[in-house]
Amino acid sequence: MAVADVSAEPDASYDEAQNISALAHLERLQAQLNGLRPTVSRVVTPFYSPPSPALFHEFKAGLYAAQAEIKSFRNNFLAQETQAILEHARQRESEDGDLSKCGEVSHYGWIEREKREKENAKKTKGAETVEQCEAALTDEEVDKIVREWRARNLKLGFEAKERSRDLTIIFVAYGYRLRFHVVVSQDANEPRKLQAACMGTTDVDLTITRCIASRPNVNDLKYLLDMIAAYKNVKSADCAKCGKVYDTDLYRPWARRGKHIDAVDEKAEIVWQALHESCLD
Ligand SMILES: [Zn+2]
Repeated sequence: MAVADVSAEPDASYDEAQNISALAHLERLQAQLNGLRPTVSRVVTPFYSPPSPALFHEFKAGLYAAQAEIKSFRNNFLAQETQAILEHARQRESEDGDLSKCGEVSHYGWIEREKREKENAKKTKGAETVEQCEAALTDEEVDKIVREWRARNLKLGFEAKERSRDLTIIFVAYGYRLRFHVVVSQDANEPRKLQAACMGTTDVDLTITRCIASRPNVNDLKYLLDMIAAYKNVKSADCAKCGKVYDTDLYRPWARRGKHIDAVDEKAEIVWQALHESCLD
């Protein structure tokens, strides 16, 4: 097939969303190509029946349909979007010819993933992963919050650098090794900022990072650290809203939210609940 005459500018810096979108596009193209495989047998099918006056019309209709399908695939293949992806891949290969990691990339599931990412992007629009922390929090108060949290969660893997401003928390929950990274900005003259993410690129890691980013009380360091611990310590693994373990996409309740309850001594207490991302308000 002739290569399209397009001036597709390769972009060496695809971000994650662009990579997912490109893989979804190629998956759609592959599905269209797979659909062309039985084209010849579909065209000749009328000849398996005894000759009849309708035979020529059936053959003609089948031929036209096949031509239209091939044309549609050809147009999609030559489209600028496809050629830009292929050019990007060629450029990346010329920079690094080691394609061994390609074997780890799934061939399917990208269309669904792209759809989910778009829905989630709409939901969390405006929810920044970098949030301003309580401006009044002093260095000593940050230290105290981290120290007290650590004392309550000794079983969790923990590493602190930069005087409790760069925290790594590691543990296994439901068979997944989760690694959280929390950064509290240090500049005393600026309002503090909290950065938090579940490190990694799996669906679970990305889902958890989105659920953390859309949390309430975004300025609250204690709430954030307790939320992370709740991935291990939550009392029930069922979703607090729908009551199920798996949602329709077979995802676990990967969000954690604190619910205030009145304790007996009239001091409000937070109980952590598990929720599906799709069940968050
Ligand atoms: Zn649910």
